[in-house]
Amino acid sequence: MKSSDVRESMREWNHKWYGFWNLTGRDLPYPRAMDVVDRAFVPADKPRLIEYLKSCPIAIQCMTQHEFQCEFCDEYHSKSTFQSDGEWLWPDSLAHYVQCHNVALPNSFVQHIRDRAYVPCSMNTPIDINHLDWPELEIAENN
Ligand SMILES: [Zn+2]
Repeated sequence: MKSSDVRESMREWNHKWYGFWNLTGRDLPYPRAMDVVDRAFVPADKPRLIEYLKSCPIAIQCMTQHEFQCEFCDEYHSKSTFQSDGEWLWPDSLAHYVQCHNVALPNSFVQHIRDRAYVPCSMNTPIDINHLDWPELEIAENN
């Protein structure tokens, strides 16, 4: 995908979750990691954004730990460990994708982290995952 296309989709991202990659190759309403690589995504505060992603508490951790290989390198990541700041939810592999593979972050997510002055939330901020706007399942099933 072209850098300008990635920037367009990062401007339009209106969910409070990110980093759940389409690993199927089918046309799903969320991207593959390779679809959102933008080498031009180098804001001055990128290290602080990454640090924030890494530092927020784990909100969900499944008992069974499955791993998947990074789409770009040999690292393995947990499929079932998710971090949250009470408002946004992301898998704990997201920081790696942003740091090592130039995966871009949505504008709204970047702004949200800046608004919080890069301060990760405390360990006890609950998130109600049922109120996040997940993709419509029938879209996925019709493909
Ligand atoms: Zn990797």
